Amino acid sequence: MPGPLRLSFDLDVDICVIGAGLAGLTVALEAARLGASVAVLEARHVGWSASGQQLGTVLPGYGLPIGDMIARVGFEDARELWSLSKQGAEYIRATASEELIPGVALSEGALEVSNVDAGDQLISRLQTLGEDFETEVEGWQVDRVRAELKTDHYFHGVYYPKAFQIDGRNYVHGLAALARRAGARIFEDTPVVSIDPSGIRKRIVTPSARLRASHIVLAGNVHLGAPSRRLSETLLPVWRYAAVTAPLGERLGDAITFKGSVTDTGGIDHFRIVHGDRLMWASPETTWAARPERFASAIQRRIRTIFPQLGSPEIAEVWGGAVGQTVHGMPQIGQLRRGLWVASGFGRQGLNTSAMAGQLIARSILWGDERWRLFSPFELVWAGGATGRVAGYVIGMWGRGSSATAGALARYRERAQTQERIREARLAEANRQAGTRPPPRRSPPGSARPARSRPPAAASSSEGEGE
Ligand SMILES: Cc1cc2nc3c(=O)[nH]c(=O)nc-3n(C[C@H](O)[C@H](O)[C@H](O)COP(=O)(O)OP(=O)(O)OC[C@H]3O[C@@H](n4cnc5c(N)ncnc54)[C@H](O)[C@@H]3O)c2cc1C
Repeated sequence: MPGPLRLSFDLDVDICVIGAGLAGLTVALEAARLGASVAVLEARHVGWSASGQQLGTVLPGYGLPIGDMIARVGFEDARELWSLSKQGAEYIRATASEELIPGVALSEGALEVSNVDAGDQLISRLQTLGEDFETEVEGWQVDRVRAELKTDHYFHGVYYPKAFQIDGRNYVHGLAALARRAGARIFEDTPVVSIDPSGIRKRIVTPSARLRASHIVLAGNVHLGAPSRRLSETLLPVWRYAAVTAPLGERLGDAITFKGSVTDTGGIDHFRIVHGDRLMWASPETTWAARPERFASAIQRRIRTIFPQLGSPEIAEVWGGAVGQTVHGMPQIGQLRRGLWVASGFGRQGLNTSAMAGQLIARSILWGDERWRLFSPFELVWAGGATGRVAGYVIGMWGRGSSATAGALARYRERAQTQERIREARLAEANRQAGTRPPPRRSPPGSARPARSRPPAAASSSEGEGE
């Protein structure tokens, strides 16, 4: 096998892309398909960071909940943004065929489960997604969810029949192969140390070569560094860790029969069955880089907490990668100045969004497509540097902690209600036998709820749109 192709000679191209993750590779593939000469410069190797570590779940939407998006940009623009996010997912579906990318193993369906008993929010969310945003969704009642996921941790669910999952690693390497085939040149082991974006022909400097290009696309995510420190500082790096278990055999069926990806509304867990009887699971997060192996037991504990019937499954492999979170939760897509483009900040939902960004930027450069302007209201906002990381960690932990607490409370209420129903049935039976009238009904502890008219139309901020 030949080693990585390092750039060691000067080059002139139409478009220079910095970063060979999902975003950079999709820009490169699409721009090359449209006839541009493209060079991709990658500091390490293709898919080195998050793009090579992701779980392959492709859902529509963004990290920012729909309700917040509508509040920020209005209903019509929110609908257009949502539709772009669906196009990103469709792009992956079209690209991830076994003919184009062998081993990509596309399978259908994803489920977003609620870790609190919030059926009214579910109805509101289904209305927004299904009717207003034309996305195929099914509402699953608690029984249906628990028939597929045998745990009392989850309540209602939103099933996305058009969502799907792929082998994430094969996809990113497949994208690189397609981009090369379309004529893009990918140079690995080639960090960009500085750029000068001021002239018509922009300059890009690497340790052993210089490039000139009409357009530069910054797709380096949180790792970008020297070429644009200002841009790097608008992203909060969050390391997410995932693992795959050893084969679990038939006992996996006692816990999970759902075949697609599962994410929860608290943004805590994301899992699915892989290779027939193994469980792939992502959960722990930090705002600093740590050795992934440290999180094997945390993931094992998390699996045991949700599915006690699986015991403590042996962990076969652990890995992690850094995602770039923006302060507003939307990705950074667009033109910073003439010929200088950005595609980053895709957070935990980077597959559909980076695919859409890649297509959009290539078309903007070569066809003058202006739809990237829909992202303009989401400006580059400083993420707070080192202080921001600490704050981000505390806020993240608080959000996950409060979501777990809400889940525990919901399960407590559910148990109390079941016990109350059994108690009432016994009492009614005793009264029937004694020929007396039943006493007036009392509510179980903690079940008192304020009367609600129609639930709010928009989704609440606890409902991330998946990973
Ligand atoms: C554990 C985990 C699970 C995930 N699961 C999912 C999922 O199921 N579904 C989903 O939609 N998303 C998922 N994500 C999120 C998704 O992986 C990311 O949003 C996405 O990969 C970001 O892609 P990117 O191209 O922007 O960045 P990256 O993958 O970080 O790529 C950036 C590249 O740029 C290079 N680079 C940076 N600076 C320079 C420079 N100066 N010179 C040269 N090269 C440079 C880096 O070396 C890197 O290779 C997951 C993430 C993680 C960590």
